[in-house]
Amino acid sequence: MSNLRQRFYIENCPVRGEVVQLTDTLHTILKQRDYPQAVEVLLGEMLSATALLASTLKIKGNISLQIQAQGSFKWAMAECNHLGQLRALADFEEDARFGQASDSSTLFSTLQQPILFINIDPEFGERYQGIIALDQPTLAGCLMQYYALSAQIPTHIALASDAQAAGGLLIQLLPRTEEEKEHIDEDLWPRLIMLTNTLKADELKQLDAQEILYRLYNEEDVRLPEVEQLEFSCTCSQQKCENALIHIGEDAVKDTLSAQNPIEMDCQFCNAKYTFNAEEALALFGRHLS
Ligand SMILES: [Zn+2]
Repeated sequence: MSNLRQRFYIENCPVRGEVVQLTDTLHTILKQRDYPQAVEVLLGEMLSATALLASTLKIKGNISLQIQAQGSFKWAMAECNHLGQLRALADFEEDARFGQASDSSTLFSTLQQPILFINIDPEFGERYQGIIALDQPTLAGCLMQYYALSAQIPTHIALASDAQAAGGLLIQLLPRTEEEKEHIDEDLWPRLIMLTNTLKADELKQLDAQEILYRLYNEEDVRLPEVEQLEFSCTCSQQKCENALIHIGEDAVKDTLSAQNPIEMDCQFCNAKYTFNAEEALALFGRHLS
């Protein structure tokens, strides 16, 4: 079982990358709901992608990808924070087209009026939301196009997933210093892309990160810092539920109590249950049961 992110550098080159692998973390997330295969594959790719993208951020906080659509597929979201904690969820109606899939293109082809958002929520500072055009066949293709248009950092991304394992690889050509520009190897980036494209989806899902990097780039001088662990973790809490009740207000809470006492709040991501009896709910507003 491996749930990890391996950063890599290529010595003397302005290139860095990441390999992500998810096994039992993926199983834990997928078993929260009864997902058809195309949705499992999409969520696996989205989880791998957020784990890759989180590593490119230099801030503490959270990065999420979110797809919204009309039609039988409603929405999906996956997120990863700076601690490598992941969660994901999707909502959909039954549709025979969701039965089988080898990559995200199956589900993408069924989406009606889809929008793909990328959200960055720093612990401190302003939230960023960008819209990623969904006009490529796969999630990896859409993300690469987004980087090409918005970030101006040449970025190559590969994603693969099934119900058992998900994997991702990201490689970036970083801005070069004046000295690096003098000794430029113009061939480097096209060569790395060509090598990366030889990686098969099954290899990305099944091989060790180090094995993948060795197979792809054994002609290059690849450096590996310490591997980072990834895990499933939900950010729901008693406090957040209390805040939500306070937010809807005393009258709405009283209305809810008259229909449902105690109030039950279920977290869709992890199936945790939070309950508030009338006394507890009213105490949030400084009231007592009369
Ligand atoms: Zn939760």
